[in-house]
Amino acid sequence: MAPKLQQFVSPGKGNGVQATASIRRGELVYSAKPLASCVSNKLSKEVCHHCFTRRETLLRCSQCKMARYCNITCQKRAWCDHKRECKCLRSLLPRIPTDSVRLAARLIFALLSPSENSSEELYTLEEHESHLSSMSEQKKQGLSHLASMLQLYLTQEVPVQEMTSALPPSCQEPLNLIAKVTCNCFTISDGELQEIGVGLYPSLSLLNHDCRPNCVMVFEGTNLQLRAVRDINPEEELTISYVETLSLTEDRQRQLEDQYHFTCHCQRCDSQDTDRLMLSGKEETQSLLKEALPKLEDLKAESNWQALLENCRHLLSTVGGDVPEENLYKLRMTDHAVDASIQLELWEEAVGYGKKTLPAYRQYYPDPHPVHGVQLMRVGKLQHYLEHIKDAFDTFRQAYEIIKVTHGDDHPLTADLLMKMKECHTEMDQHSSSSH
Ligand SMILES: [Zn+2]
Ligand SMILES: [Zn+2]
Ligand SMILES: [Zn+2]
Repeated sequence: MAPKLQQFVSPGKGNGVQATASIRRGELVYSAKPLASCVSNKLSKEVCHHCFTRRETLLRCSQCKMARYCNITCQKRAWCDHKRECKCLRSLLPRIPTDSVRLAARLIFALLSPSENSSEELYTLEEHESHLSSMSEQKKQGLSHLASMLQLYLTQEVPVQEMTSALPPSCQEPLNLIAKVTCNCFTISDGELQEIGVGLYPSLSLLNHDCRPNCVMVFEGTNLQLRAVRDINPEEELTISYVETLSLTEDRQRQLEDQYHFTCHCQRCDSQDTDRLMLSGKEETQSLLKEALPKLEDLKAESNWQALLENCRHLLSTVGGDVPEENLYKLRMTDHAVDASIQLELWEEAVGYGKKTLPAYRQYYPDPHPVHGVQLMRVGKLQHYLEHIKDAFDTFRQAYEIIKVTHGDDHPLTADLLMKMKECHTEMDQHSSSSH
C-alpha cells in the first residue's frame, strides 16, 4: 500500500498528518504494527499476550506466571519480546507494575534491539512530546512515581549504562520516557470495543484530534488500521478523536486538556452543537440521573450486575420518563441496563433497552463510527437469538453500512456480521416456504 499521507505543519496545532491524494470514505489509509505493546493487567488472565485473542483457557508462562498464551506457538513467537520482561516481572513478584510501566519497559527492550520494521516510520519517538513543562505538579508527581517504579522494574535487566548508551537522548531519562509513553499510547480494543491492552504506534501519534474526525482507528489483534469515514481531499488534514465523541463539549475539553494538554477549537466545540440535545429534558431529573452514574459505574466495575440492573430499572422507570432517550445521562444509564441484562441473560429486557438507545446513537454519530456499528450488532444478535428474524436482519443490515466503512470487508468482525446476515436470510426463507 502506497501511503497517501505525509507529515505537515497544521496551522495552530503543530505537527500533523495530511492527505497527499484523494481518499475515499471507507478506504484503509494506514495500518501499523506497534513498536511496543502489552495486554493490560486487568485482562492479563483472559487475553493471549502474543496475539491479543480472548480465550477461556490460556497457557501460563511457567516462570513469571503472569504472561499467558493461546498455545505453544504463540508462546514461542512471543519469547523474543517477553524474554527480558519475564526476568523483570519475576524480580518484583508478587507485585505487578502498572500498564504504562510495563509498556515503557517493552519500549526500551524494543529500542535496545531494533528490528527491521522500524524504518518506514513517518515519525519517531524522539520527536514525541512529553508535555512535562505544561503539566500540573500533581500530575508530575504521579509520573515520577511511575518513573521510579520503572527503574526498579528494570534494575537487573537494563543497567543505567546500557540505557544511556543505546537509547536516543530523549528516551534516557525515565521521567521523560514515562511522560512520552502516557501521552502517546493508544488503547488497543477487541471486536466488542473492550479495552484489552496498550500500544505505541509512533507515526499515528502524529494525528491531531477533532471532535468530529474524518478517520477512525480499529484493531485486528495489535495491528492498528486507520480508515477514512468521509471522503478526504488532497492536502486536507487527517484527524481522529482522542476521546469519546459522545459527550458534552465541556467534558471533552476537560479531558483533552488534562490528558493531552491542549484546548480543542474544532467546529463541534466552537458551536457546542450537540450539547443542547444531550441535556434535553427536565433539569432536576437530569441531575438525579447524572449523580447516580458514578455509583453505577462502580457496580459495573465490580461486575455486580444484579444491583446494577435494579438501580437502572428503578431510575429509568420512576424518573426516566421526564427526559427523552437522547439525554446523555439517560442514554448512559440505558446502556448500563443493556450490559447488565445481557450478563444476567435477560434477553428480552436487554433487547428492549438496546432498541431504545439506537435512535440516539444515530443522531450522535453522523459519520460511520465503530461504537455505533457495534451497538447495532449487539441489538441484532439479541433479536436474532430471540428469533425476531426480520428485525435482526434489518438491524444487521444497518450495522453493515457502518462496519464496512469503519472496519473494511476483510476484518473478522465484518465476516462475522455477514455470516449473521446470511443466517437470518436462510431462516427467513425457511419461514416463508414453510408457511405456504
Ligand atoms: Zn495467541
Ligand atoms: Zn514469563
Ligand atoms: Zn473539539
